[in-house]
Amino acid sequence: MVEARVIGGAIRLVAPNEGVYVLDLEGRPTFFEHGMRSYERGLSGLLVRKSWDGGRRIVEEVPGGERESLLEHVYGAVRRALEGAADEATRDALALAASRGIGWLREDERRFASLYMPISILPPDQYLSIVLQATVGCSYNKCSFCDFYRDRGYRAKDPREFEAHAREVREWLGAGAMLRGRIFLADANPLGAPRDYVLEYARIARETFPGRELFAFADYFSTRLTPSDYARLRSMGLRRVYIGLESGSREVLRVLNKPPEPRLAVRMARSLGEAGISRGLIVLVGAGGRGLWRRHVRETVDVIDSMDLGGDDLIFLSRLLVKPGSPYALAERDHMEARELDAQEREFEDELRSRGLRVAPYDIREAIYRSRRPAASCTRPRGPRRRRPAAYPSARLGPPPAPRPRAPSRRWWPCAR
Ligand code: SF4
Repeated sequence: MVEARVIGGAIRLVAPNEGVYVLDLEGRPTFFEHGMRSYERGLSGLLVRKSWDGGRRIVEEVPGGERESLLEHVYGAVRRALEGAADEATRDALALAASRGIGWLREDERRFASLYMPISILPPDQYLSIVLQATVGCSYNKCSFCDFYRDRGYRAKDPREFEAHAREVREWLGAGAMLRGRIFLADANPLGAPRDYVLEYARIARETFPGRELFAFADYFSTRLTPSDYARLRSMGLRRVYIGLESGSREVLRVLNKPPEPRLAVRMARSLGEAGISRGLIVLVGAGGRGLWRRHVRETVDVIDSMDLGGDDLIFLSRLLVKPGSPYALAERDHMEARELDAQEREFEDELRSRGLRVAPYDIREAIYRSRRPAASCTRPRGPRRRRPAAYPSARLGPPPAPRPRAPSRRWWPCAR
């Protein structure tokens, strides 16, 4: 016996002693639990399995053959639920979902790939948004630790092109849009497009998907909008802007090859707050390595203090993943080990929570709307204070070393705008 309900724009199935399955109203599996493991399916077709092994949380992509048999299992549960569906609305939704299958999903994934450039990253509270790509890529694209948009040049879509894109996304999502209650404007900095374009993006997005609020990333150094523009955008539904602060330390920002102007981030955060737009700040735990540990924490907290954040704002702590061979890895070799990252993350949490600010973890490896393969399967410990698994190098964690004198670098800032 499989119980089914249509609720919150989704079909939710419960099969006692077996699992829980959630599909959107077009019959796309989005989440399920099966055999003590949970699975999330991105719109690209990517299926990610999340499980626990002792103290470790394991996140991994499910390979093709296994993926198909798991999805077949989901559709099997749908067909069993259809046999016992009580009310007409549930029966209709189940009948549509039961008519789908692996072949239909493959075609749906092809359509997805034709509509979007790869969606490289989203904020963690936006995985269930409707993503609309207003701009493509990142207008800066030079941060030493980031390769999200290295595969594409930057361009702001003409509003007519954006409108066509938004309509195609609406047609493709169909009733599946009902599960997605927000709009996320991608890619890295849609607010950096010309002002008239930005206003058009907001208008078109809201007209195409009425009743939903808008969210977007923005960088603090190339966005040219004024406080009155933000007020206008707020009235057009812009709800939260995510700013990649990374650090409040100019020294750390230089290592990251990010324009070392945290005062611009303060100015933007204040303007957004005055317009009634929530701020989502991303802080990079581990940035600058051991040598800049103290400066990174102290100066970042100082910068955040001057932003006048409140209860509607969020600070995301995102651990720096150092990719071997990346410009960051070549420039900064004194990387923190896992236990040190744990310790720095706790320091940030303690400092920020003691100020009444809301803090949340941000593990970029878990982004699920994405349409490219994850960099690798990954593990992270259960809860922030657990010991890292043996897969990570062990280290005795003493107090962070005193900052080392650093040779002045001519390598970073001159190439930034
Ligand atoms: S501004 Fe953001 S998206 Fe662009 S390169 Fe830097 S971190 Fe990456």
